[in-house]
Amino acid sequence: MFKIHCKDCDSELSFMNIRRLEDLDRTKIGMYCNDCFPAAEAKLKLQRYVETYKENDIYCKDGQYAPYWQSPYYFKCLEDARARIDNRHLGYYSPEFMGL
Ligand SMILES: [Zn+2]
Repeated sequence: MFKIHCKDCDSELSFMNIRRLEDLDRTKIGMYCNDCFPAAEAKLKLQRYVETYKENDIYCKDGQYAPYWQSPYYFKCLEDARARIDNRHLGYYSPEFMGL
């Protein structure tokens, strides 16, 4: 039977103890056990992290900016990612939404 080992601690993984780590653009990084996954994910996010803009963490990989982790869309520059966050805020507080 094919066995998968944790990328960090090399322990054998089972169906109950396996987490798949994906990069910002959802490319596969590797498989981890439940214990190692949070640290591996945090480390990866730190590598991709650009800045926190209005309480949103912006990430970047290969010149593609994402307004949040594993966002389905990307922007070519940081300003566009910020603008997306600004627009989302405008949406939340639109007069229609507030019932004004
Ligand atoms: Zn592990």
